[in-house]
Amino acid sequence: GLGYSNYYMDLEKQYGCRNYSPLPVVLERGEGVHVYDVEGKKYFDFLSAYSAVNQGHCHPKILKTFIEQAQKVTLTSRAFYNSNLGECEKFLSDTFGYQKVLLMNSGCEAGESAIKFARRWAYTVKGVPDNQAKVIFAKGNFWGRSIAACGSSDDPSRFYKFGPFGGLGFDLIDFNSVEQLEAKLQNDPNIAAFFVEHIQGERGVILPENGYFKKVKELCDKYNVLLIIDEIQTGLGRTGKLLSHQWDDIRPDMVLLAKALTGGFYPVSAVLTDNEVMEQINPGEHGSTYGGNPLGSKVAVTATKVILEEKLCENSLEMGDIFLKGLKDIQKPFIKEARGRGLFCALEFHESTKVTATQLCLKLKERGLLAKPTHNTTIRFSPPLVINKQQIEEALDIINKSVNDL
Ligand code: PLP
Repeated sequence: GLGYSNYYMDLEKQYGCRNYSPLPVVLERGEGVHVYDVEGKKYFDFLSAYSAVNQGHCHPKILKTFIEQAQKVTLTSRAFYNSNLGECEKFLSDTFGYQKVLLMNSGCEAGESAIKFARRWAYTVKGVPDNQAKVIFAKGNFWGRSIAACGSSDDPSRFYKFGPFGGLGFDLIDFNSVEQLEAKLQNDPNIAAFFVEHIQGERGVILPENGYFKKVKELCDKYNVLLIIDEIQTGLGRTGKLLSHQWDDIRPDMVLLAKALTGGFYPVSAVLTDNEVMEQINPGEHGSTYGGNPLGSKVAVTATKVILEEKLCENSLEMGDIFLKGLKDIQKPFIKEARGRGLFCALEFHESTKVTATQLCLKLKERGLLAKPTHNTTIRFSPPLVINKQQIEEALDIINKSVNDL
């Protein structure tokens, strides 16, 4: 029965903040592409904690680093130097090709930091008058739950009754619209940055049109505006490249990482950029108690190395192709589209249909696969990148049967 599950779910309902509506499954163990609930039932994890466990649950190499470092020292604060931060910064700089790295904790903090850096650069380098700097975002964006993140969103569930949000200097344009970006940049010399995901994850895995990002980068260069690409969900192999924007062969001015940077062991986020931007920040002007701590720094290096050494980008591409082909083969009148890149995929239903994404997720759960809707009509599928062909085929079989159950 569901005795144990109900006990844990009731505890969260009674004592926790009801800021999520979880699927009714209580997990207690994970290994590779699988998770297990408190009744011992095994599931494929096709969410991967919103792409934080790209390396698979409890990856043994990351676990080893985590345990060894936790036994030495975990937190020193940046009041002092520590013997892991600099090596992690150098590793990330070399791996991703940026001169400078800032480590924070959550993805949202990386976004907040990027906005501060972009505004500072606008004042001290670009010459924007004080307090006039603007940042442009794409409609449908998601980068966290801070006041600034909610203040840049056009989704009411992010900002409803959390205001006021005035004076942030934020503006929104359509994702994939070169024209709207150009119109903004042409008419406003005070724009510091365009902040955008390479593929819009929470909006429902919305892909950029061919050539869009090439044009975006050209326009940003032309108008001396920083291009900030949020790779927090799309990065680190998820879309079949180390960073998703490599699909478009561009080099953004800033890149944001988090989630899979530590493979699910520890919250670490990073802002990658060059001296021209990062050197505008002086001691005391930014920081975080846990940011750049020795445990997170060490784990981030190992977790990133696992992606490279185990060729998870390549596997994501190969398995993603098989998986997407399988999704596209599912023919049902209520299905509008299957789309994706690498192992970042989605199935979207028609608005008009009575079948909801949540109903399918409940069927999937019964048959042993966990995924979560984004909005009412879209289900994202993002398994750990260590998944193999046989597991992809098993998962497709579960999805096919569950769709037929609806
Ligand atoms: N940016 C993107 C693209 C995300 O998908 C998320 C989280 O889902 C964030 C930023 C925020 O990350 P965090 O939840 O670690 O603050």
